Amino acid sequence: MKKKAKWILLFAAAALLLAVITVFILFPHYWFIAGEYMGIRCDRVPMDRMEVPETVEVTLQDITESDNITFDQSLMLINTEYPLPDDFIPDVSEYKDTGVYMNSCMPEAYQKLSSAVAEKYAEKLYISSDFRTAEEQEEMQQTNADVAADPGSSEHEAGLGLDVYVPYYAGFGFIKSDAGRFVNAKCWEYGFIIRYPSFGESETGIPYEPWHIRYVGEPHANVIYNNHLTLEEYIQSLEIGAWYEVDGYIISRQKPNGEGSLQLPKEYTNAVISPDNTGCYIVTVHSNKSDG
Ligand SMILES: [Zn+2]
Repeated sequence: MKKKAKWILLFAAAALLLAVITVFILFPHYWFIAGEYMGIRCDRVPMDRMEVPETVEVTLQDITESDNITFDQSLMLINTEYPLPDDFIPDVSEYKDTGVYMNSCMPEAYQKLSSAVAEKYAEKLYISSDFRTAEEQEEMQQTNADVAADPGSSEHEAGLGLDVYVPYYAGFGFIKSDAGRFVNAKCWEYGFIIRYPSFGESETGIPYEPWHIRYVGEPHANVIYNNHLTLEEYIQSLEIGAWYEVDGYIISRQKPNGEGSLQLPKEYTNAVISPDNTGCYIVTVHSNKSDG
């Protein structure tokens, strides 16, 4: 009797294993999604706190007018907790006479990403949803509240999120294509993240969207993907007023002082400053340390 039970158990285990293997053979993208969920492709990026460098004070007015500083919207956190302010002005521009509008911080990066897809997979990366005005978002939300975010809480209203696809593989099907899996695993190399990752619903409030890419720029995309974070977790991890060194960059998240000024390292190249939509600004500069 005991022996029989053992055999039944063994048989059940073998059947289960076979079923799992069959599912993964029939639907190879499940392997991929399982890997993304567990972060098996993530290569931890150290982000070290550094001593406060010698700084100069710069007013927000100076920043927006300076030729040496790129002032953009790349690191705005947009969700139901931090919706876009009523007076928000999206900084969008048309992408190569295509009628597609995206935030002005990202056309160059998007061009590189779509060229990589074309080169590797001979596929054209298309955009099904680009910049939406607040009115368009509201209209969408009224017709389909399940898929459209509340007005003010969608990245499409800042032109920072893009819904992408390749022919025959749109929406969730995007992940079933080689190009879709490439975009999901490698878009960080081009400054993008999958904004609503498979593991992030408890943080983002939004289920997995393998088709919605979001520009955040370098080195932020690297840190977010490789440290297996959501944008929410990343922004919260940056202590206000602290300075961090990561992958040849210096990052600091700051609240403007009473005079509306931020601190910039005394010596810097390629400074990028973006509001984060929580009342702070994120300063990103190339560190001047030589690569040795
Ligand atoms: Zn989207």
